[in-house]
Amino acid sequence: MPDDIRPGTAADDRYEKIDHSPAVSDEIKKTTCYMCACRCGINVHLKDGAIRYIEGNRDHPVNKGVLCAKGSAGIMQHYSPARLSQPLRRVGPRGSGEFEPISWEEALSSAGDWLGEIRNRDPKKLAFFTGRDQSQSLTGFWASQFGTPNHAAHGGFCSVNMAAAGIYTIGGSFWEFGEPDWENTRYFMMFGVAEDHDSNPIKMGLGKLKTAGKAKFVSVNPVRTGYSAIADEWVGIRPGSDGLFVMSLIHELLHDGKVDLEFLVRYTNAHWLVRHAPGTAEDGLFVRDADGNPLAWDRTTGQQADASRTDIDPAMRGSFTMPDGTDAVPAFSLLLDRYSDSRYSPEAVAPQTRIDADTIRRIAGELAHAAFEQEVTLDIPWTDWTGRKHDKMIGRPVAMHAMRGISAHSNGFQTCRAIHVLQMLLGSIDCPGGFRYKPPFPRPAPPGPKPAGKPGQVAPGTPMAGPPLGFVTAPEDLLVDDDGKALRIDKAYSWDAPIAAHGMMHTVIRNAWAGDPYPIDVLFMFMANMSWNSSMNTTETIRMLTDTDLETSEYKIPKIIYSDAFQSEMVAYADLILPDTTYLERWDCISILDRPISDADGPADAIRQPVIVPDRDVRPFQDVLIELGVRLGLPAFVTEDGSAKFPGGYPDYLANHERTPGVGPLAGWRGENQDSHGKGAPNPNQLDRYIENGAFWKGKFTPSQRYFKHSNREYLDHAAEMGWIPNADPIVLQLYSEPMQRFKLAGQGFGDVVPPEPYRARITETFDPLPIWYAPFEDSHSDPAAYPIHALTQRPMAMYHSWGSQNAWLRQIHGWNKLYMNRKTAEGQGLADGDKVRVESPYGSTGAILALMEGCNTDTVWTWNAIGKKKGAWNLSKEAPESNKGFLLNHLITDLLPPRDGHRFANTDPVTGQAAWFDLRVRVIKDDNVELGDGQSTAVPRAPGVEKAKTKSRFGARFLPLGNWRRSRGGDDT
Ligand code: SF4
Repeated sequence: MPDDIRPGTAADDRYEKIDHSPAVSDEIKKTTCYMCACRCGINVHLKDGAIRYIEGNRDHPVNKGVLCAKGSAGIMQHYSPARLSQPLRRVGPRGSGEFEPISWEEALSSAGDWLGEIRNRDPKKLAFFTGRDQSQSLTGFWASQFGTPNHAAHGGFCSVNMAAAGIYTIGGSFWEFGEPDWENTRYFMMFGVAEDHDSNPIKMGLGKLKTAGKAKFVSVNPVRTGYSAIADEWVGIRPGSDGLFVMSLIHELLHDGKVDLEFLVRYTNAHWLVRHAPGTAEDGLFVRDADGNPLAWDRTTGQQADASRTDIDPAMRGSFTMPDGTDAVPAFSLLLDRYSDSRYSPEAVAPQTRIDADTIRRIAGELAHAAFEQEVTLDIPWTDWTGRKHDKMIGRPVAMHAMRGISAHSNGFQTCRAIHVLQMLLGSIDCPGGFRYKPPFPRPAPPGPKPAGKPGQVAPGTPMAGPPLGFVTAPEDLLVDDDGKALRIDKAYSWDAPIAAHGMMHTVIRNAWAGDPYPIDVLFMFMANMSWNSSMNTTETIRMLTDTDLETSEYKIPKIIYSDAFQSEMVAYADLILPDTTYLERWDCISILDRPISDADGPADAIRQPVIVPDRDVRPFQDVLIELGVRLGLPAFVTEDGSAKFPGGYPDYLANHERTPGVGPLAGWRGENQDSHGKGAPNPNQLDRYIENGAFWKGKFTPSQRYFKHSNREYLDHAAEMGWIPNADPIVLQLYSEPMQRFKLAGQGFGDVVPPEPYRARITETFDPLPIWYAPFEDSHSDPAAYPIHALTQRPMAMYHSWGSQNAWLRQIHGWNKLYMNRKTAEGQGLADGDKVRVESPYGSTGAILALMEGCNTDTVWTWNAIGKKKGAWNLSKEAPESNKGFLLNHLITDLLPPRDGHRFANTDPVTGQAAWFDLRVRVIKDDNVELGDGQSTAVPRAPGVEKAKTKSRFGARFLPLGNWRRSRGGDDT
């Protein structure tokens, strides 16, 4: 405004007034973000009854005020034009998207009738699977109460290799059950991580490393995006070869004698004796005394002795004759023999990994230097489990982290186990500067319970005796019948995938369609976009969802119930839609019973509270589940007279449900006096206490509990008292995995429970007590000459799964996806930036626009995940770039491997059943005429109650002062 215009005059009125400190809100409510899996604390600013602004909660243990693009764009998620607004019943053929609105009473009564009939007849005929569900402590419990073993969430196609390998090896895992010691590490190695898991904590951690400037950050990833872009060294490895690289590092460390033997003896089973009796049922198992205690060879006495004794000098090498005449060797000796072999030398693995031998050798040297020459000492006295006092905490400051890039291969379990073995050899587990456990971990490796669902455990009208998911340790624990046939619809815990600790959601639709191992009656899913970006072989999956029986004309999957907040692609393929709320309209619980938000210095959990009242006829899925529990008479949800046990719905359940006496979904402010944490009687005012505290509870360990938790007397006693572990025994790290050997022996035909013939070779080859490497299965199925390129997806920082593509703000960052390729590789093929190309695998093809870059492995192409959309879904216009230029690699990925010994296995890791998304091989061909947008021609109609999306977004305009509001008109205000 010019200086000569006086305030309050007519001339002054022509100029806009700028308030430099406007009050942005009438009210602030604290809750938990759900725009990705991190669960950051947020402050939601409300103005005039609408959400004005979202900021990070500075007091929150996860993000300490940091908010990412996704988190702040939660406003557009909440006001998304794709929101469903009422229950729907399908009236047209599946896939047509034709629905009629129905009342909640009609919807619940239909669902209750369908479910009630099968519960009373054969509860396993219900397959209940949830996607990005953050309420798994409720959904898993509900499945047990219903009585079906057929339940899991999306972990089987996400990261079960990473989780299971960690839990079976060190009793914890990367991400949710562990984290790097960002404060003290000197060398941080990250394998195959994209940006949407543990997003803010990793960013904050990397920020700490960079600020302190004391640590080297090495990123091992075929693609240099996201975190890799700021790494001090990027190792552009060939996909699926990480295990070989890690084993070569181990080879070098062993060669140079850079191994922490003291750590191995104190904390692992490296010195336990392994029976050497080839051709017998005992071969490869630990030698134990009459009480079952594992034995070591004491060099002082020249005799075997209890391996847990601290007064022995255990042998780590050699062969020893046991009193029964058999031979035994320490587990470490077997490890030494295996990885000293020249096939793991840097020169031998360089061609496979595309990492030159000098680099491997140098990195091994750097790891050893950081671990053994840069020890970190904290002046914190502590006591180990034996009662030995230590006046300091001394750590080897090498930290590691791994995620999807390791997990999503058919060799991912063994590769992830190899990373943990490398950590053990360096002595960098839960020490200053190393990998650190987050409570309630560490737990015994593996912990209980076993999965329920064995013959006799599934009966009409009866809950199962235990949870549907758990940890098997021997063939006897599998869920198979006498003929070795799977008992679960997804074939988890069968010979197809014995250690499928997260279930196998990705196999359910095919198996249900095929009636293999049996037909089901109802498929009930929540938040799982299985007809599009969450399935392999998407085109075929859609066919299965719509396929009918030739004789009866009934759908092969008879009934599908689906709950989602948005009109995702899956909606069109369901028969009954139960519309969910957005995450800002409901109660929720980030529970220690499930996947809490603890950090290494203390336990934590959190809630979501409704910050805004729904303006549509929608209900929180968790409330609906509890209501169905009442209608079905599930014992945990009804009183003796059959009335609702939690009449207040999910918040009532959160405060008052006890899983075991004194233990409920939330750990904070329990007990009559509201001052117990962990265990205590239910507190009806518990949620109020959480709200007062910013929607979370955080405990804090004493300094002497902070490290060496697997062996720390004070920590173990505390963990047992809190109910996190069954007793205060030390957690022994499993360098050598006996459960793996038990399955291998079964594959060789030993034991009471052995696999049927078609499974034997695969079990014998892929189960091993020490990590092994084998090429991703696809490498031997697709002709490498015909399909020379590996194809991957990466998660963009700004999107989480398919959710982002309806978000008006985030769509502006990623409206469609290109295919990225190494520049030299492309130019060698005569391809140029911007070319239209056909991407072909043996199973399908799609069109894409090519983009060239240097930061990509020469044998790899990649694209952003889940940007491509089905035309019309998510209430996107028919012209939306997501469905006209965007594409999915899912169409190119097979869900079944070629036949082997007469059996077709799913395209998964053979140990855990993890979907092998990243095994894909393709060829890329220039094609000016290729159709983009996955060749889609027809569009799904909008569901009833979903209004036409506005063409412009002017969300903020509604909050402007009236004068500015008028001036800003010209677009829509949502
Ligand atoms: S990292 Fe995830 S949970 Fe945290 S603010 Fe971003 S989207 Fe939300």
